[in-house]
Amino acid sequence: MRMVLHQLYYIVKAQKMQWKSPDDILSFQETNLKKILTHAYRTTPFYHRKFRERGVTPADFNNMDDIVKFPFITKQEARESYPLDIISTCYSPSEGIEGTTSGSTGQNLTVLYSPEAFQYYMAVTYRNFTVLGFKPWHKFAYTRYAPIKIGTPFYEKLGFARKKHISVFLPPEEQVALVRSFNPTAITGYPSMMIEWAKIMEETGDAVHPLFIRTEAEILTREAKEFMMNVFECNLYEEYGSAEFVHMAFECPEGGYHISSDAVLLEFLDGNEPVAPGEEGEIYITSLVNHAMPLIRYKINDRGIPLDDICSCGRGFPTMKLVVGRDDDFLTLPSGRRINPRVIIPIFELTSTIKEFRIIQKKRDYIEIDIIPGPAWSAHEKKRLRKTFLEICKEPVSIAFNLCDDIPRGRHNRPRPIRSLVT
Ligand SMILES: [Zn+2]
Repeated sequence: MRMVLHQLYYIVKAQKMQWKSPDDILSFQETNLKKILTHAYRTTPFYHRKFRERGVTPADFNNMDDIVKFPFITKQEARESYPLDIISTCYSPSEGIEGTTSGSTGQNLTVLYSPEAFQYYMAVTYRNFTVLGFKPWHKFAYTRYAPIKIGTPFYEKLGFARKKHISVFLPPEEQVALVRSFNPTAITGYPSMMIEWAKIMEETGDAVHPLFIRTEAEILTREAKEFMMNVFECNLYEEYGSAEFVHMAFECPEGGYHISSDAVLLEFLDGNEPVAPGEEGEIYITSLVNHAMPLIRYKINDRGIPLDDICSCGRGFPTMKLVVGRDDDFLTLPSGRRINPRVIIPIFELTSTIKEFRIIQKKRDYIEIDIIPGPAWSAHEKKRLRKTFLEICKEPVSIAFNLCDDIPRGRHNRPRPIRSLVT
């Protein structure tokens, strides 16, 4: 019951926060930033060491301009420090909720959210839905590797915010059948998967017509958006999220791409200098709510543009533009069947025997996989990966593994996990 009241409290709080003035939001951020800096310095060996090396303490933070004094953190550092060095001594992993990054960087990181942070992240995600017209009695379908870890909460049992997980591992036809039978008010998930659904539904002529679609994790191209708007006869909105911070920014119906500044601080930097509004910068993120595993000035490997526009919707959250997301190709097999990259990537991304990888399809029946092996790499592991890969393909495809020391990084400083040269 306490959990329920907490969740309701956070939902109400998150709803109110969006209407605060930009000045009030800034001062809320400064207060919470000071708290998280102090907490991280006092209760994690990792930040204590990092701050000392840099010659700063939380006392050096008095207002937002001071944030540049504090060190950055990379995903690699967070991985190497997990769990003991970076988890606050106030929490044990059994108390929190674990999440794993499954983006397209070729490396995964486990993140521990405190129960309070997880509930707040859920509240801001729910807020994003309500901004687009979602009501508590509506239902939504979502695409993901694995179901959301909240199970079936009490409100869902009462018929509120009912959800349906559409697994990336199912064939597109089965996904479409599930979506059709569930008939959701809203759909959220990977645009690459929804494009497949739209193609099938266009062909069979019985598309679903949700109130809206919210896309995440991949860039939604203009062409794809137009195509899907036509088929689904609804609007599409983008969301900027990640496993590390759950939800960072959302598009409102007036076209503003608002940062959820009550949960995260986004910095857009060129080196250590903030870029001017309208200029492109590297995005660094600080969670203002997660005290279990503080992430402060975390380099997420995305690039974006901060804007100083005031959105006509009246929300006080600042706006931005996302320059890059993750553009992964589908594989096309000899039969013409296409495989979603999100089915392939986890085979390689979620194993500790591999540091980094890159898949290049050179012909319909020939795929090369570059791998930077980890210490646990073995011939047996190679055999296992080949077997898993072929089980998904279910077609005669030859796979060549190349072990290497380095994998070239793409235009945004990340190896592109899947590239298909087959058209
Ligand atoms: Zn707006």
